Amino acid sequence: LRRVIVIVGIPGVGKSTVVEKLIEIRKKDGKITRVANYGTVMLEEATRIFNVKSRDEMRKLPIDSQKKLQIDAAKKIESYHEDFIIVDTHLFISTKEGFWPGMPVDVLQALRPTNIVLLSADSDVVLRRRQSDATRERDPSTKRSIENERSAAITLLYASSLYCSCPALIVTNEEERSEEAARGILKALESSN
Ligand code: AMP
Ligand code: MG
Repeated sequence: LRRVIVIVGIPGVGKSTVVEKLIEIRKKDGKITRVANYGTVMLEEATRIFNVKSRDEMRKLPIDSQKKLQIDAAKKIESYHEDFIIVDTHLFISTKEGFWPGMPVDVLQALRPTNIVLLSADSDVVLRRRQSDATRERDPSTKRSIENERSAAITLLYASSLYCSCPALIVTNEEERSEEAARGILKALESSN
């Protein structure tokens, strides 16, 4: 059974860390995982054509430029042929013009996910993680703005699930518990295969 698992979650929820744990766990079992970090795939092209210097600069580009990068990335990821693919991405991007969908219909059609997993964490945990991450240039946020992001994520999660007719799973990434979160995802996905 081929899996294309889209892992989403608002910035600071700890997606990349959980994805790393997940790769590690599978590796110990002798299993290979192909990961597509959507932002990284987009950044390669963004650097080349728009002279963008960091991943946090991309969402400041005009929407039509972001759309081009987004669809090019979908085409690239669409060509991955492995049996177990993780796409680390976002349900929406916080742009100057508002929340913009990270997985619009054309992207979902290209990726054809078999599962969508939303990583979740309490707003104060996310806020603290954002404040302590010096490697990123995040927009200032508050507990209230994070609550808004969380509800946008839930709405778009079910919209995406409906569109691609695949299950939507919500996994909590508690503090210092990213390995449990990774195990929770794998447990939910282990089936007859
Ligand atoms: P991340 O490293 O996960 O924080 O993602 C970095 C950046 O990549 C985001 O801020 C967006 O600008 C871009 N990005 C990631 N996934 C998508 C997507 N599905 N659609 C559009 N932009 C995306
Ligand atoms: Mg990330």
